[in-house]
Amino acid sequence: MPNTLHADHIRQLQTLYQDSELLVALFDANDTLRYANPAFRQTYHLTETAMPTWVQLMRDNYRQQTGTIIHTSDFDTWLGSALSRRGKQRYRMLESDLHDGRWLMMTETVNEAGWMLCTAVDISSLAEGKRSLRTARDQALRAASTDELTGLSNRRHILAQLDAQLARPGTHCVAILDIDFFKRINDNHGHPFGDQVLMDFARYLQSQLRRSDGIGRLGGEEFMLVLTDTQAAQASLLMHHLLSGLHPPRTIGAQVDFHYSCSGGLTQLQPGDSVQSAYHRADAALYRAKQHGRNRIELG
Ligand code: GH3
Ligand code: MG
Ligand code: MG
Repeated sequence: MPNTLHADHIRQLQTLYQDSELLVALFDANDTLRYANPAFRQTYHLTETAMPTWVQLMRDNYRQQTGTIIHTSDFDTWLGSALSRRGKQRYRMLESDLHDGRWLMMTETVNEAGWMLCTAVDISSLAEGKRSLRTARDQALRAASTDELTGLSNRRHILAQLDAQLARPGTHCVAILDIDFFKRINDNHGHPFGDQVLMDFARYLQSQLRRSDGIGRLGGEEFMLVLTDTQAAQASLLMHHLLSGLHPPRTIGAQVDFHYSCSGGLTQLQPGDSVQSAYHRADAALYRAKQHGRNRIELG
């Protein structure tokens, strides 16, 4: 077949990657590193055989002040925000400044199976002025799509993700989750503690979902999940697992034995659906979950 990579081509590519200054890395659908060339390994201080997840890589970078400069005083919130954008588009470019003074232009390409090719080139020599302008623009764009408290996608961004998902082939689901008796949590423990519960819930959701799924905060204590390539039955299992995983007592701030639960409305996207119609079905199902006693999932 013309223009496909045969075994010999792959061998040639492999030797070229070994010597190239281009950074090349391949992550699988679970965001675990499966291949990185020496230029990539050197930049991120990885040994020849280390295969961390991307989250671990960033955590190590942050702790050791190596690799990418992570501009935050709160790593977990930064991570939440980065994960809400990572791997959500088929292709994107982003810039990254490194502790060693270099400036990289990175690309991320994601295929149907969720694998990601990451490449980067050193663009330190490009004009500094233009760079800072681009950085300011990127920060503004990020802020426009991010929920400030939790670092997740904001309402606009998650609804845009739902809209994009409606156009993609395959079977997808959307769910709305709402924390139960949240007003009571605020009333009993104060509003700042309520905020900590929201952050805990956001982190929890993020830890349970795949990179290809979308998670956003619709507002207040209401969150939306866009579950890609997932049938209703599978999504329902996932939701029940998610709810039961929330049962054990959690440590939130000074509270070591804190319990809270959530209710959810789940629906599978149908041909002809709009954002409004899918939202409406999920919301109606959520309403039933509340009516039927909370801490449960209803299918709409
Ligand atoms: P239900 O189980 O039926 O969902 O009851 P609920 O108490 O969770 O729902 P309700 O809509 O009555 O209350 C939601 C509360 O969420 C009221 C509002 O003050 C609070 N809230 C909204 N946004 C925030 C926020 O950003 N931080 C905090 N701490 N509270 C918020
Ligand atoms: Mg609520
Ligand atoms: Mg609510």
